[in-house]
Amino acid sequence: MRKVAAVALEKMFSAAEKDGIYLAGASGYRSQETQVSLYNNYVNIDGKNLADRYSARPGHSEHQTGLAIDVSGASGECAIEDCFAGTAEAKWLANHAHEYGYIIRYPKGKENLTGYIYEPWHIRYVGEDVSKEIYYRDITLEEYFNVAIPVDQVVGKR
Ligand SMILES: [Zn+2]
Repeated sequence: MRKVAAVALEKMFSAAEKDGIYLAGASGYRSQETQVSLYNNYVNIDGKNLADRYSARPGHSEHQTGLAIDVSGASGECAIEDCFAGTAEAKWLANHAHEYGYIIRYPKGKENLTGYIYEPWHIRYVGEDVSKEIYYRDITLEEYFNVAIPVDQVVGKR
């Protein structure tokens, strides 16, 4: 990850520990090569239409920016799976990520705006001013920038 995002992540993980929440990085920076193989694998499993709802086409993954990371609990249970949504770790992240410059990038019920299904584990570093504004206004990054992007061109996705 990029240094500014990595430093903020460390701070956030330490703060979570003080609340008894143990977080871990499940997937951070990805090279183009990795994204190509991930995406192709998802297409093989689910077909292109479904895969495009949760996986980024190569060159379009937020993970390739070095500013996004998938977070799980330290146990790894429910890592990058829908069941993460109900965990104490997910709740802590949703309530505190903005204090460290991160946002839940693909919130629940905002697929029409972000182009991605709900991913409670995928956080994106945007800096503290922006993260707090997005959190308190309860908006997406797209709404913050006041852009509507065609779903097939959205930059992001796991
Ligand atoms: Zn992700």
